Amino acid sequence: MTTGISLGRAGRAVLDLLLPVDCAGCGVRGSPCCPGCAAVWWGLEPVERGATVDGTPMFALTRYRGVARRLLLAQKERGRRDLGAPLGAALARGLTNLPAEYRQGELRLVPAPSRASAARQRGGSHVLALALHCAAVLRTQAVRARAVPALRLAPGARDAVGLDAEQRTVNLRGRVRTRPRRLPEPGTRVILLDDVITTGATAAACVRALGNAGIKVAAVLSLTVAG
Ligand SMILES: [Zn+2]
Repeated sequence: MTTGISLGRAGRAVLDLLLPVDCAGCGVRGSPCCPGCAAVWWGLEPVERGATVDGTPMFALTRYRGVARRLLLAQKERGRRDLGAPLGAALARGLTNLPAEYRQGELRLVPAPSRASAARQRGGSHVLALALHCAAVLRTQAVRARAVPALRLAPGARDAVGLDAEQRTVNLRGRVRTRPRRLPEPGTRVILLDDVITTGATAAACVRALGNAGIKVAAVLSLTVAG
């Protein structure tokens, strides 16, 4: 006999609206990410990883641990879609803190692609959600920005958790593909967004795939960096 109640996606969405929200970082009631936890995103540091391509600079807001890690995992693995807005706003803040050379003109925010199976389970790509929210925040600040899902992962890539740098590179080789109709227009400045930089292999594969399509990435910006 089953006693559990099964809710469809629509049912869960209604419940999300009705129930008070807990901060996914610390559990305090009131908002998906309380002001205290949001402060974890206020930094910005350059990231050095061997796998970067053509010297494309990489930046992260903070380390992948503690509150930052809990917030990311809640959005990515536990269905906390209400974190898209605060985490996207954190990326927007980080982007406006980048050196001016990386954010002049019209911006195109390209999310690092998720595996299709993982995105399906999560109800959509979580990094695309971040990019959409980030672009929306920037537009309120009169920055011309748009999220463009220009990359996809071809089938066959494994979940990268537990893989070392070389295994990650092999796992992604040839599997990061461009979507020709979603490519940033010529003359726009392209920022690659991600939630966590581990070895830099994903960012490198994305930069290379876009480069092969004639698109230069100005900088990589990630919420967190591992290690
Ligand atoms: Zn909190």
